[in-house]
Amino acid sequence: LAAEEGFDAEDIDGLGDADHSPLPILAVVGRPNVGKSTLVNRIIGRREAVVEDRPGVTRDRVTYEATWNGRRFKLVDTGGWELDVLGLDAMVAAQAELGIETADAVLFVVDATVGATDTDEALIKIIRRAGKPTVLCANKVDGQSTEAEAAYLWSLGLGEPYPVSALHGRGSGDLLDAVMAALPEAPPQTFGTALGGPRRVALIGRPNVGKSSLLNKVAGEDRVVVNELAGTTRDPVDELIELGGKTWKFVDTAGIRRRVHLTAGADFYASLRTASALEKAEVAVVLIDASETLAEQDTRIITMAVEAGRAVVIAYNKWDQMDEERRYYLEREIEQDLVQVQWAPRVNVSALTGRHMEKLVPAIETALAGWETRIPTARLNAFLGELVASHPHPIRGGKQPRILFGTQAGTRPPRFVLFASGFLEAGYRRFVERRLREEFGFVGTPISISVRVRE
Ligand code: GDP
Ligand code: GDP
Repeated sequence: LAAEEGFDAEDIDGLGDADHSPLPILAVVGRPNVGKSTLVNRIIGRREAVVEDRPGVTRDRVTYEATWNGRRFKLVDTGGWELDVLGLDAMVAAQAELGIETADAVLFVVDATVGATDTDEALIKIIRRAGKPTVLCANKVDGQSTEAEAAYLWSLGLGEPYPVSALHGRGSGDLLDAVMAALPEAPPQTFGTALGGPRRVALIGRPNVGKSSLLNKVAGEDRVVVNELAGTTRDPVDELIELGGKTWKFVDTAGIRRRVHLTAGADFYASLRTASALEKAEVAVVLIDASETLAEQDTRIITMAVEAGRAVVIAYNKWDQMDEERRYYLEREIEQDLVQVQWAPRVNVSALTGRHMEKLVPAIETALAGWETRIPTARLNAFLGELVASHPHPIRGGKQPRILFGTQAGTRPPRFVLFASGFLEAGYRRFVERRLREEFGFVGTPISISVRVRE
């Protein structure tokens, strides 16, 4: 096994030790078909993609990390959500509103070949109300001949329209320069830095699992509401809560407290809330109603937390309603439907009676510790060497791919890069992940493993 001398994460191109410290967020807003997704793909396509091997990673992603001129930011594509949940207009407005609410700047996309429609006008009202820096993209300007149409969009009162062809790339550099000028260097609010400040917790779960009850129970009367930025309509509210002798920041609690009035589309709102809370959190406490059959929405929320790369704790609430029979089925559900988070600590609580509230903090701390674990390269390679010797990859087409060496490229969550002499099958990669967990723990954290094939 050739562990290279002095090899460390910085030697791998494109893989610095990126953590999940907050980056400025850009919301891409516009009515359907103006080319938002095409534009988002163009923007993130500039970045060298790292092939991630995490199960289920590609589904329903709305937040992407992007880089322009060396500056990193997050891109929220507000168009990627379940399109048929709400009526079209309500859907577009809701997406825009929530997207804008959580963003530091807005990229408003209009189809220049169509001009501004009533829906566009409605969106502009929402953007104005939010008062966030906004860049206007006049899309589908594929050639010189359509540039005049872009100029008409000056009349929208959002400043200079940047003529762009998301499809062909025309004008996207100028657009991104304008976007970078509009985005703050770092998010202005004090969500807390990685070191020192209170740890950031997202309390998530589908409606009625008991989120607000739990929040009230743990917070008591002592909570401090922070992040009410003067002069903005920014709605998410963070609360500082004393638990187990420490201060924790529960992010985005307004979304927990406020009852959503829409009945149709409540799921849709809940998903956006969850995404926005996860965006700001380090650890997610996923609440599940233990008295009811696990719902698809529960697993979807867990998947969101995993895909966001957050530490995860599963809290089974309403344990006071547990009986023998339910308990039996619950065990089966955990085995069958929660395999993707077998590694997450579980606590069985009751927000009503206060049962096992004291177990919450140790579970959160365990998950955060796993999330921040770093395995020294030498130790990792000693482990990989033994693993390769005792469990070699199956021979395929007369060849036997080998893991040559590996390194941990990042933490929060742990990310590994393995260098191999050939393609490693998914089954073998899962085996490697399982053994990594057996050896090093990683309780409460997703881990990602990418494989680079050395020719
Ligand atoms: P979204 O609904 O706003 O995300 O829009 P999409 O990105 O899905 O694009 C809608 C349609 O417009 C697709 O057929 C795209 O290929 C097309 N489109 C997007 N950008 C451009 C562009 O710059 N020029 C032209 N001609 N078509 C585009
Ligand atoms: P949220 O929508 O997730 O914020 O859920 P709520 O906190 O509003 O709770 C929904 C319902 O479940 C309310 O009627 C609560 O009183 C009830 N509830 C919450 N936690 C518990 C619990 O631990 N045990 C029982 N029996 N009921 C609970």
